[in-house]
Amino acid sequence: MTIAESIAFFNKKLEGSNCRLIAVSKTHPEALIQEAYDAGQRIFGENKAQEMAAKQPNLPQDIEWHMIGHLQTNKVKYIAPFVHTIQSVDSLKVLEEIEKQAAKHNRKINCLLQFHIAEEETKFGLSEAEANEILQSESYRNMQHVQLTGVMGIATNTENEDQLRKEFAHLRTIFENLKQQFFPTDAVFKEISMGMSSDYELAIAAGSTFIRVGSAIFGNRNYGNI
Ligand SMILES: *Cc1c(COP(=O)(O)O)cnc(C)c1O
Repeated sequence: MTIAESIAFFNKKLEGSNCRLIAVSKTHPEALIQEAYDAGQRIFGENKAQEMAAKQPNLPQDIEWHMIGHLQTNKVKYIAPFVHTIQSVDSLKVLEEIEKQAAKHNRKINCLLQFHIAEEETKFGLSEAEANEILQSESYRNMQHVQLTGVMGIATNTENEDQLRKEFAHLRTIFENLKQQFFPTDAVFKEISMGMSSDYELAIAAGSTFIRVGSAIFGNRNYGNI
């Protein structure tokens, strides 16, 4: 499939649902992002702050950029002027830096709390206890430039569908617990970002509102290019 055909395929699949496609363009050149844009795609995901910041000025300004990779506090400044959503918030420290940088630019940045739902040790993310601590902190409650809009998680890299279902259901339960406890009347806290090229079908069935799809749109990543 061409990029345009892939975008059309996902649009058709998500038609009428409340799940949206994030085209994950990390390592791919601007020309391919433009190709997806020309096919109607507007939400793009990158996992490195400097790569996103380098591409953003050269592409249409109505692109909604989502940071989906682990973000070090000293990199927040590169994307704060334009980033729409930071999906990978995994500490109070990084949230405080987002607040500080967003304030500088007089804007509000949407954020998702990233949870550790996979078996692998290496994947970043919070536990529910850690999230509760952040949400109860005075520092978070005083923030004016951060808008929490939901949760994100990366499932185990496995073909075991039962396990994937279990992990997606777990993230949804975490979302529902947080919603009930901290955001019961907050209509913007509504996002569950889960599902990638290999497991998006199961994620959609489990209630995903953002699937993050890279290789199924752009093909294999070439880490030598960037
Ligand atoms: C790279 C990446 C994706 C997309 O992965 P594909 O398997 O290429 O669809 C999704 N989410 C995160 C956090 C990523 O880093």
